[in-house]
Amino acid sequence: MRVGAGNDLHRLRAGGPLVLAGVAIPAAVEADGHSDADVVLHAVTDAVLGGAALGDIGRLFPDTDPAYRDADSMLFLTEAVRLAGVAGYRVGNVDVTIRLETPQLAPHIDAMRERLAGSLGIDSRRVGIKAKTGEGIGPIGRGEAVACDAVVLLKGG
Ligand code: MG
Repeated sequence: MRVGAGNDLHRLRAGGPLVLAGVAIPAAVEADGHSDADVVLHAVTDAVLGGAALGDIGRLFPDTDPAYRDADSMLFLTEAVRLAGVAGYRVGNVDVTIRLETPQLAPHIDAMRERLAGSLGIDSRRVGIKAKTGEGIGPIGRGEAVACDAVVLLKGG
């Protein structure tokens, strides 16, 4: 077994919806980034790649490449899982913590778990997603950014 860790942060700007784990969440803000700026998928992609020692999302999918402008980040995660599979690893479970001041994510947690589980090819009972606020301080608390931490267990190899 191997463990992988990943994290990501994107600035927020006026707009919406906010896309997290492939789920479009009604919000007055959206994440700013080269791709669809989905911090959950980016953090989990890095965790999968890191656990298999296959590099990182920036190396595989450089933001200088116009091919990835407004890209669906599900493609990054699907490719990371495929590459880990080629290296002999499959995902055991995933634990995710999203840091966001608003909106409240509780009503969307199960939809995000289902979506993430589907893209990883595992049962949603193996996907944990938690949400924390920034308690009104720092870039998260001021609503300037959304961030995500992810831990992945890889089996095999
Ligand atoms: Mg990112």
